[in-house]
Amino acid sequence: MGLVGVLAGVAPGPSLTEEVPALVEGHLDLLQAGVLVGAEALGGPARGEEALLLGHELVDPAEHGVVVHTADATQTGHAWVMPARELVVLGTASQAPTRHRNHNGYLLRWDAEGILFDPGEGTQRQLLLAGVASSAVTRICLTHFHGDHCLGLPGILQRLSLDHVAHPVDVWYPAAGQEFYDRLRRCALYNDTVDVRPHPVHREGVVDPGPEPFALVAARLDHRTETFGWRVVEPGGRRMLPALLDAAGISGPDIGRLQREGSVVTDSGRRVTLGEMSEPRLGQVFAFVMDTRLCDAAFALADGADLVVCESTFLDRDADLAAAYGHLTAAQAARVAKEAGARKLVLTHFSQRYPDDAGFADEAAAIFPDVVVARDLDRVPVPPRREHSGGAEQRAHG
Ligand SMILES: [Zn+2]
Repeated sequence: MGLVGVLAGVAPGPSLTEEVPALVEGHLDLLQAGVLVGAEALGGPARGEEALLLGHELVDPAEHGVVVHTADATQTGHAWVMPARELVVLGTASQAPTRHRNHNGYLLRWDAEGILFDPGEGTQRQLLLAGVASSAVTRICLTHFHGDHCLGLPGILQRLSLDHVAHPVDVWYPAAGQEFYDRLRRCALYNDTVDVRPHPVHREGVVDPGPEPFALVAARLDHRTETFGWRVVEPGGRRMLPALLDAAGISGPDIGRLQREGSVVTDSGRRVTLGEMSEPRLGQVFAFVMDTRLCDAAFALADGADLVVCESTFLDRDADLAAAYGHLTAAQAARVAKEAGARKLVLTHFSQRYPDDAGFADEAAAIFPDVVVARDLDRVPVPPRREHSGGAEQRAHG
């Protein structure tokens, strides 16, 4: 049962906000609950009403009288639109966990999808601390098989079964590490019920063409073992224009029908097309650049991305160590973001040789200002869509 079923089961209550703890207990995590609460705050589904979410669009608004859209941050007509795309940082330490940093681990929330990247040891517990249900994980991507990027896989897979997660979970990983995948997949005894679908990646390029909800692209990085970085590419779409809809007298369920069917006939008998009532909208892009030296693939992955997660194990004063061990410095990561025209950069995977993270922030911000030096359990929203698409050109790399 997907998100639709979960939310449809929410009973009317005194207040959606008060219901949040119960929702969480019922395996509906904080983000999904937040969508409901936020929709109400925007004048969306009042308490007691049903809210049905299906990834990007509510199903059959005519039947349910309400539209909740999770892919945008704007309100259009009867569509209440909430951001549901964010990075949940589960761990930020390279090599070994520290008192304040768990091994790697990142969950990208993308509407109804949740991609777990590089689950290091302890990721299962970090999910709990982050308030995210295991059922949020729909896909897993591993960059490579050094322990800090994969030792959490067995625990996560066991947890998915323990929680009776009903949806399949696709796992992408470098094919050269198949023997490590096989061991991690079968290293302990438990009631293994989840449909885990392995996808060894042999070459760079598109590994899942999508196009909905996104395409997944792999690019080979330059590390000490075969390593793939990842790029999540949403297809372009259309942005509805509320002023034009109002002027044409199109509202409520007719908006959904216009989106689905491409045209509607207004009360005055005029046929209005989707093209007239909307403008092209660029898809969003997320990039995940982990253990690597500076290489073309790092720039290609980050090209024009809305959000880039990039390792910065070292500071520039230790650039020789970074090169020797196949890693980046904070300055190099910032260069990647800057030259690739990315919008927001998240630095992570820090060496424990540095007593604090101030140096990373200073070094990167001098080159690329919009930088977040990640700490465990941080949540970094994917930046709102660009206002003007400038055409429907798509920026996929394959
Ligand atoms: Zn590594």
